[in-house]
Amino acid sequence: MSAYPHLLAPLDLGFTTLKNRVLMGSMHTGLEDGRKHFPAMAAFFAERARGGVGLMVTGGFAPNIEGWAKPFAGTLATAAAARRHRTVTDAVHAEGGKIALQILHTGRYGYSPFCVAPSRIQSPISPFTPRELSARGIERQIRAFVRCAKLAREAGYDGVEVMGSEGYFINQFLVTHTNHRTDAWGGDYANRMRLAVEIMERVRAAVGHDFIIIYRLSMLDLIPDGSSWDEAVTLGKAVTQAGATILNTGIGWHEARVPTIATSVPRGAFAWVTKKMRADLRAAGLTIPLITSNRINTPEVAEDLLADGAADMVSLARPLLADADFVAKARAGRAEDINTCIACNQACLDHTFKNRLASCLVNPRAGQETVLVLRPAERKKRFAVVGAGPAGLAAATALAERGHAVDLFEAGGEIGGQFNMAKRIPGKEEFSETLRYFGRRIQATGVTLHLNLRVDAQALIAGRYDGVVLATGVAPRDPRIPIDTGAPVLSYVDVLRHGAAVGERVAIVGAGGIGFDVAEFLVTPPGHSPTLDLKAWLSEWGVTDPATVRGGVVRPKPAPPARRVTLLQRKSGKLGKGLGKTTGWIHRAALQMKEVEMLSGVNYERITREGLFVTYGEARKDGQLIACDSVVLCAGQEPLRELQAPLQSAGVSVHLIGGAHLAAELDAKRAIDQGTRLAATL
Ligand code: FAD
Ligand code: NAP
Ligand code: SF4
Repeated sequence: MSAYPHLLAPLDLGFTTLKNRVLMGSMHTGLEDGRKHFPAMAAFFAERARGGVGLMVTGGFAPNIEGWAKPFAGTLATAAAARRHRTVTDAVHAEGGKIALQILHTGRYGYSPFCVAPSRIQSPISPFTPRELSARGIERQIRAFVRCAKLAREAGYDGVEVMGSEGYFINQFLVTHTNHRTDAWGGDYANRMRLAVEIMERVRAAVGHDFIIIYRLSMLDLIPDGSSWDEAVTLGKAVTQAGATILNTGIGWHEARVPTIATSVPRGAFAWVTKKMRADLRAAGLTIPLITSNRINTPEVAEDLLADGAADMVSLARPLLADADFVAKARAGRAEDINTCIACNQACLDHTFKNRLASCLVNPRAGQETVLVLRPAERKKRFAVVGAGPAGLAAATALAERGHAVDLFEAGGEIGGQFNMAKRIPGKEEFSETLRYFGRRIQATGVTLHLNLRVDAQALIAGRYDGVVLATGVAPRDPRIPIDTGAPVLSYVDVLRHGAAVGERVAIVGAGGIGFDVAEFLVTPPGHSPTLDLKAWLSEWGVTDPATVRGGVVRPKPAPPARRVTLLQRKSGKLGKGLGKTTGWIHRAALQMKEVEMLSGVNYERITREGLFVTYGEARKDGQLIACDSVVLCAGQEPLRELQAPLQSAGVSVHLIGGAHLAAELDAKRAIDQGTRLAATL
């Protein structure tokens, strides 16, 4: 008997059957945007089809130029383009998988001068003002959707997903926030939803009955003046009657100021919305399967949601970047071996927003399937890896996977390095999953782990290894601020690793990723992380039942901060500029809600028993006291590599990775990537 009977049950769609209840949700990886990427896209999806996913959806393809997400974005509008997709669909079918193409028209979100919309209203996330469509222009867009769906069928896809949520084109017609029209496509709701229904009816008529059409329905807009619940349900019924095979859940427009997929969002945080929609559709006699989505990253969470009747399927997107074999491992009773998505966005969404190909922090092979291959080693060698932080863990396990003999030395009593501090930050609880995963990999690959052993150069030389990988990480930087005797100064390591007592009023020196995290740690009462308490989290971000308020957003009600915190940096300008592209705003907003004072452009003059003295500008006069009980130093880091020189002078082959290689702008993405890539070549 499987531990996941609901998750692994097949789903009969009438004309075809899905193997299980897992949909790989659409993700823009960048592989869509260029002919040269088709072989890589084929390998990417084939690997996931092999991993047993029930149905996959491609990243968005525009039906025409007006629908481009950015200039020259992937478009499916010609028979020649459809022929190129055969590489992808054939590769997926050869692995026994099923795949649908997402039709994505971005409307006013398009980062392109050709963008169009129901009304001439610029979005806050694009510098281009859209052209208002005429009635004939709307007809042209509908025909483009229909043509795209027909071409997808010709290209061998098993279906299409019509993207109707996240604030894109179709969504823009649905709400008065973006639709000010007074013709047949605007005004009352019947007119505003006409576009969605017309597209679905005409796509269904064009592709026939035996082709999957998923409609991604915006169930919770999370913007003021968004759809009311009655409107969302009305649309759900209408698109079902118009020919949808499956309804997928859309949560939040891209311009919404509520996080929807970041790591601080509780697991399964929005499944209640799908559950509510499913109940209303069932009450109306509609049995269409519904997919729930957002922050579902383990088979347990997925199984619980399905067993609870929240949905008929679950959408996992990033979790399948992190582990292509998610479903196969769940089926084999090996859930502990799943490389869990920690929802950091660092290598996937942040890359997409920087026009880079998406990959995954915990799995650098994602999107690189044809390039980064861990082949069995031709000659088995012996390696020592020093340091079991993310870099050392990745290198050691990948080397052992290739067949080498690996000794992994760690000075501390547990694996993980700085991730052991990261996982203590409220909202970063997921980081412990990566350590669980690497723990399992160490066992499975046969790495010999030596804990509580600060290995020295002599021992390494005596070991006569074929190579030594130094992954010794970093030491906190001393910012060299004059400190009076008895002044209450701590480093972030004292606070996060050693549990040092911190006073009520705190000044934090340094506002990088760690400064922000320490602030979050200090303003949250112990044991009260909203990420682990859905009700508290929804209230904190002002999310409510959409049946009571349009769009489901109200004024946030944050819990009071546990301490008074001042966060400082020497640079002028906004704090947190270097944080993740898609998550920096969340960290800033969270600290603002906790009344954290943010000061930039300061000079640190002295730390006394009263607090921290700072000045502003060149003159360094008129010092200001930031009265506080504790000063926590988060002023960056320096590489730790004292083993390098003695090893090299003894003729040992030494490789530096992670923080030991370069501390500046170090993050776990680089550490894991560097460790894996090095291991692939040794
Ligand atoms: P480390 O993690 O520093 O590991 C080095 C290891 O080497 C340590 O365990 C140390 O004990 C061991 N060692 C050193 N010398 C020896 C020796 N001689 N013998 C044996 N062992 C030795 N990164 C992100 O990408 N995203 C985040 O959200 C994020 N959040 C963070 C939050 C906090 C609070 C902190 C502190 C860090 C965060 N980071 C984050 C940074 C991330 O943890 C580091 O970039 C990453 O851990 C660096 O990996 P590393 O393996 O190079 O070094
Ligand atoms: P960081 O991002 O480099 O920030 C260091 C901070 O210290 C900056 O605010 C810097 O700003 C200040 N600083 C530098 N030198 C100083 C000096 N001599 N005196 C006083 N202040 C000084 O480093 P970090 O915060 O330690 O983070 C380490 C790494 O972990 C980062 O590279 C980061 O990517 C990663 N991390 C990532 C996340 C994430 O969410 N993605 C979270 C945590 C950590 P000024 O010079 O302007 O004062
Ligand atoms: Fe998940 Fe982070 Fe990997 Fe993206 S980069 S798939 S969010 S673990």
